Amino acid sequence: MRFIADMMLGRLARWLRLYGYDTLYGVEEDDEIIRVALEEDRVILTRDCGLAERAEKLGGRVILLGSNDLEEQVGELKRRGVTFRELFPPSARCPKCNGPIRRVSKDYVKGKVPESVYERYDEFYVCKNCGQIYWPGRQWREMLKIDKRLRA
Ligand SMILES: [Zn+2]
Repeated sequence: MRFIADMMLGRLARWLRLYGYDTLYGVEEDDEIIRVALEEDRVILTRDCGLAERAEKLGGRVILLGSNDLEEQVGELKRRGVTFRELFPPSARCPKCNGPIRRVSKDYVKGKVPESVYERYDEFYVCKNCGQIYWPGRQWREMLKIDKRLRA
């Protein structure tokens, strides 16, 4: 399942990417969202009834979300059949840009991350698209806590 999220759903879009779902975000115009969704067979995620109605009339698939809260939104998606498996970095997509992520060697990140990070960690991932580097630091641990809550 692939998604396109409207502009109100940035946080949800980033989380869907972390869970490995190909999720477009950043398209502003409703017509453009509908066009891309139909062309690329993506499910539209929106909180906007008007957009949902128009998209459905044109044959698009839509999940209309009622809540503004991330945990509740994830609950709504689960009820619509979207599964959330434990976060697993190699299958995640980049939360910043939706690009695929791959594991890289410690050598690869030398000089690209702060020295203290290089010294302390052995596990690194990079986004193939934007080059962002990820490692299991404080932010990562925070994410795992949220992940547990979201899947509970
Ligand atoms: Zn990226």
